[in-house]
Formats: sequence, C-alpha cells, structure tokens
Amino acid sequence: MIPFLDLKAQYADIKPELDAAIHRVLDSGMFVLGPEVAAFETDFAAYCGGTHCVAVNSGTSALHLALLAAGIGPGDEVIAPAMTFVATVAPILYAGATPVLVDVDPKTWNIEPDAVEAAVTERTRAIIPVHLHGLPADMDPILATARRHGLTVIEDAAQAHGADYKGARVGSIGDIGCFSFYPGKNLGAYGEGGALVTNDPEIAETARVLRDWGQTAKHDHALRGFNYRMDGFQGAVLGVKLRHLDAWTEARRARAATYDARIAGFGLGTPAAPPDSRHVYHVYAIRVPDRDQVQAALQAHGVQTAIHYPLPVHLQDAYRALGRGAGTFPVAEQLGREFLSLPIYPELTESDVDACCAALAQALGAAGPVRAREAGR
Ligand SMILES: *Cc1c(COP(=O)(O)O)cnc(C)c1O
Repeated sequence: MIPFLDLKAQYADIKPELDAAIHRVLDSGMFVLGPEVAAFETDFAAYCGGTHCVAVNSGTSALHLALLAAGIGPGDEVIAPAMTFVATVAPILYAGATPVLVDVDPKTWNIEPDAVEAAVTERTRAIIPVHLHGLPADMDPILATARRHGLTVIEDAAQAHGADYKGARVGSIGDIGCFSFYPGKNLGAYGEGGALVTNDPEIAETARVLRDWGQTAKHDHALRGFNYRMDGFQGAVLGVKLRHLDAWTEARRARAATYDARIAGFGLGTPAAPPDSRHVYHVYAIRVPDRDQVQAALQAHGVQTAIHYPLPVHLQDAYRALGRGAGTFPVAEQLGREFLSLPIYPELTESDVDACCAALAQALGAAGPVRAREAGR
C-alpha cells in the first residue's frame, strides 16, 4: 500500500537534529513559549518576508487572533471561499462577525475575485483568501478590491508555506498571513501549532498580548485574551524543520511534475496557476467525475487517497446557515464531488508516483463507461 501520508519517513531522515532540539527543551525546562519559540518566530517571519511572527497553538487560533487584532467583531462581515476547510470560517464566528461565503473559480479552484467584489457591502471589513492545496490565490484583484473598500486582507496560508505569488511569499502579501503547523502540513509540528505573520507592529503586538491571556505585563490583563501559546517543543521542532522546508518543497514540486507528465493524457482536471506563482503542493488534487469509484479502485490497487474537501462549508450541517443549501455555490459543490487527492510528500519516491499513476490508469479504465458518459456532456 502506498500511504496517503507518511510522517515517520521524515522523522527518520532528520532524527538526530530533532532529538537534539527536543532534548534542549527538556533540559531548559522552558515548556511554553521560551527561547525556542522566539527563535522560530524570528526565522519564520524572515522566511515569509514579513517583519513580525506570532507563534500560537494552532492555525485556527492564528486566524482568530488575526481577526481580533484587525478589530473585527459583531456586526462586521468577512468574505471567505466556500471551498475550504471549516477552520477558515469558524474563527469569523468566534470573533462574533458574520462569514459571507463566495464561490471559487473553476480553473484555479481558489476564491473567485469577481465574486469577492460582488459580495462587498457597507458592513464588510475583511477578506480571507485561502491558498487552497498550496496554490496561491490570485491576490492582485483581491488586494484591489480591499484597497477600494478599505478592507483587511487575512491570508489563510495554512496549506501554503513557502508558496510565491509574483515574487512575494504568501502570508506577507495581505495585511496578515495565517499558518498552521498541524503535523501533516508542509511545515508540520509534532503536535498542534500555528502562527500569524504581519508587517504591522500594532497587529503583531495585539496578537502577542491576546495569545497570552491579554497580559501586557505579568498580572496586567489589558485585554480579554486566550491561552493560545505555542509550546516549547513545537518551537524547537519547527526551528529544525524550517531549515529543510525549501528542499522538501522542491521534492513535492518534482513529484507533482512527474504526476503532471504521467497523467497528462488521462483527461483529468488540474488547477490553473495564476501568473508568476509557485504551487507548493500541500495536496496534489485532480478532478475526476466518477470520483468515488476511482477512489475505491485506487484503494483496491494499493493507493491510499483523500479528498480536500468533499463538502463545501455551506453544506456542512454546522454551517448551513451560511448558504441557501445545494446550488448556492455550484463550482465549490462540483469540485467537492470531483476532487481526489493523490499521495504527495517529500519522501514519496518517483517510483511510488509511477505506481500511483499506473494504478490510476487502471482505476480510470475500470470506471470507463461512466467517464465516457461524463466526457460526452
Ligand atoms: C489546517 C487548516 C487550518 C487550521 O489549522 P489548525 O492548525 O488545524 O487549526 C485552517 N485553514 C486551512 C485551509 C487549513 O488547511
């Protein structure tokens, strides 16, 4: 079986460095925040091309603090794509604001800039573009809309560490960039983790205070904050792993190029990148009309796959109020029916990719009659 993800392979590759970092934390007794987290913040801000980084305990917390630090609260509307993980949208509700979902672009699979412009009202305060699967959203028209209406742009870069758009790193293109270091992400901790990156010193300071119970000094709770602190082990692990991220990204891109070449004749959908952008392939997704059959056939041929995501946010039971049921966002809904994520991680070998593509060819053959019907539409 070729697994969808293998986190043990990466640990085996850099075990001495990671073990040393973990032992530094044990020896220091600094288990929450501390020097390892501070050093990682400095390095990650520089990596993203931002001036400030505030490390927190998850990507969700980063988004929540980004919204609060931007002054967003009850009565405010925040625009986000319907096709994303629910963690893009839930923090808008945590902040007491109203999520306004919009559809995605059928070519890029990312938030549709014209739909963003059309969704702006006098209550709109922010836009959260998501760099879905590691492919940058088309930021220029989104920034233009934001400038026109005085909106804050909070990038959800949870899947896109190190991706570029027109020479800039994602996370430093809008006003605030939010990252997740959940273990399976391109830069993954050994537990939960997240961070926000910004060039705005006031936003950074507010987020820093909010993550630690709103304290401006010990016992001085200036704001109603949270316990969103990053722990020392995650800071140490992330500091080590950040030094390998570019090499891992190149490996992901090489595997993706092999997939692209092998499946070029299969008649499957892959995303169109915006001009001058660099995809970091958190996910290598294809569109396949008879997805469930193909996924089952791949499993039978020894290839584990996943779906990111089968249901857009507005069709999830908890968030149905954000849409008008099926048909509200037709592109996101269609993608949810057709998306299929193939294995991709730096340690996946070229021969693994070959095996996945051979299995895919067989799976598509097995699902042939349905495919032919769909292609003929
Ligand atoms: C993973 C993810 C998040 C949330 O990050 P956590 O660290 O799991 O809280 C938010 N948005 C997107 C698009 C994600 O993929």
